[in-house]
Amino acid sequence: MRERYSLMIHGGAGLIADKGKYQSAVLEIVGVGEKMLSEGVSALDTVEHCVTLLENNPLFNAGKGSVLNEEGEVEMDAAIMNGENLKAGSVAGITHIKNPISLARAVMEKSEHVMLIGTGAKKFAAVNQIEKESSEYFIIPDRVRQWEESKKQNKVVLDHSGSNSEKKFGTVGAVAKDKNGNLAAATSTGGIVNKKFGRVGDTPIIGAGVYADNETCAVSATGFGEQFIRTVLSKTISDIIFYEKISAQEAAQNGIEYLVRKVQGLGGVIVIDRDGNCGSAFSTPAMIRAQVSEGKDITFLLD
Ligand code: ASP
Repeated sequence: MRERYSLMIHGGAGLIADKGKYQSAVLEIVGVGEKMLSEGVSALDTVEHCVTLLENNPLFNAGKGSVLNEEGEVEMDAAIMNGENLKAGSVAGITHIKNPISLARAVMEKSEHVMLIGTGAKKFAAVNQIEKESSEYFIIPDRVRQWEESKKQNKVVLDHSGSNSEKKFGTVGAVAKDKNGNLAAATSTGGIVNKKFGRVGDTPIIGAGVYADNETCAVSATGFGEQFIRTVLSKTISDIIFYEKISAQEAAQNGIEYLVRKVQGLGGVIVIDRDGNCGSAFSTPAMIRAQVSEGKDITFLLD
């Protein structure tokens, strides 16, 4: 039976000063994704493509424009999951890969593994001819300023909560349901500012920063990764739907309440359930999102 499609993307949770730029970027990208879904492209291809567009946009903390680690370098994490068969692929601590989400997809489809890290991931990328870029491509001046400021304060900060920065950036993600009723989720990030060399966040951990199961929902998260790992938040939201049979919006809210109650967590999630309902919730002051469901208008959401 033909199903209605839905798509939701996010550009991170936190305060942003200059809403307009983010709004037009996410609206444009969700428009591209909607066209794909309406033409019958799979949820998996759609979330991957939307995330590559977000990675290529220096406004966001993923791919080009990623935040810098304690050594002033970009180290990225990404993961993708197919709700049809629970196949997943992820990469952690990678450098110089233009689109980490496409490398994660290659891990899912061209290796017998779920996760590759660092040097091994790089070798795998070379064998699979995944596009590379120089450090200059990734490191933008705003990120250097943000990093210098947090170094001075000797702090590790969420991209969007840097005290000095007028410009707020964010981790990115996409969740979708396609016309065949399949769900998929993808998340990509540069992590948190001034993080330790080798630190891995929630983004590439299946069940923490990303999850998709056709029986329940697709989830993409953003926020302090350590808290999302400890609460396995994306899988927790899937389990809430599985056991309580509630919609994406209620499950997102329950999930964030759990995150706050258990670990005083800071961040947010986007969720599409198996019926194609979109939901989102966050414990930060705002979260950049855009969503569309078949037959409805594209909507930008911030508060
Ligand atoms: N969740 C990401 C991490 O901890 C950061 C973010 O969402 O901004 O690596």
